[in-house]
Amino acid sequence: MKQSRKQKNFMQLLILNLIIILTIIACFIYLGRYKVVVVDNIAINIRSGPGVSYDVQTQAKKGDHLTVLSKKNQWYNVRLSDNSTGWVASWLVEQGNANSSTNVDATVNTNGTKLRESGSTDSQVLATLKNGQKVTVTLEQNGWAQVEVGKKEGWINASLLDVTSKTGTNTATTTKGATSIAEATIVLDPGHGGADPGAESTDGKLFEKNMTLSTVKIVKEKLEKLGANVVLTRSSDTFVSLSNIAEISNNAKADAFISFHFDSSENANEASGTTTYYYNDANKNLAADVNKYLAANLPLQNRGYEFADYQVLRENKRPALLLELGYMNNDSDVASIKTKAYQKKIATAVVAGLKDYFK
Ligand SMILES: [Zn+2]
Repeated sequence: MKQSRKQKNFMQLLILNLIIILTIIACFIYLGRYKVVVVDNIAINIRSGPGVSYDVQTQAKKGDHLTVLSKKNQWYNVRLSDNSTGWVASWLVEQGNANSSTNVDATVNTNGTKLRESGSTDSQVLATLKNGQKVTVTLEQNGWAQVEVGKKEGWINASLLDVTSKTGTNTATTTKGATSIAEATIVLDPGHGGADPGAESTDGKLFEKNMTLSTVKIVKEKLEKLGANVVLTRSSDTFVSLSNIAEISNNAKADAFISFHFDSSENANEASGTTTYYYNDANKNLAADVNKYLAANLPLQNRGYEFADYQVLRENKRPALLLELGYMNNDSDVASIKTKAYQKKIATAVVAGLKDYFK
């Protein structure tokens, strides 16, 4: 039987609608399975594995779409627009995270670009740069890029820069050394806590557990400003067992673990100063880097760095240190230890040491 014209039109319309509906469903299934993230920083490193120790194989630029295929230890396995795949630190691409330290090469794209003291148009102009000037981006924050130009350091509006090292074939991005703290997971352990007060001052009023926690909070803040992913073994006055502490570091796949302590000697006021401890020989470099700045920054005597068989280090499979940052039962050491100024100096030193370590 011959279809009427009306019937034929109806059938065509039905098929067309069906196709549209199926396409929409397919899209939803696809989008539901794969999360797509848009790069919001000038550039981020794409690595061959889920961790900062893996080689940089390429970089993704601002505006690039990355399809998230899987997640492992806070790293995303992503597919890039050219269909290659790699790993990116999840905190670099997650929404609301405007921080990224990148160490990428870039060029100024506008004549008369101002290099400023800070990331604001109100801040002092340090230099005026020409179109084509090469710079190294060390940090990006709120649309501003912190850059190194020769020996100068300052801030440039990120829209005035073009990234030049997209392929990551230069030494600045292919070695672990040139990458930064921004991609690293740092586990900080404020020693003792809860029922375990640690060492105490000679007047019995100050406890190690409180000094370690307030110090770690300052270190955390400084590291987060640089874009690092910071994990604390405790953030309040609670007790965490030594084996759990090492486990937190192992589970977080820490790029560095640092345990903070203040010492005690058998008799009051008989010992003074700071010591840096490592367990694995492989962590000697980390110990040297951090201790160098403790020696330079702190008013207390530096007793150097050495091997020690502490459980939080021995059971740690990650690069790990334990710092003894002065003697609780030395009145002169405690006069420093209890001050925010001293704790800030510790934080500055630790951050500087880690910066060197990740270079
Ligand atoms: Zn201790």
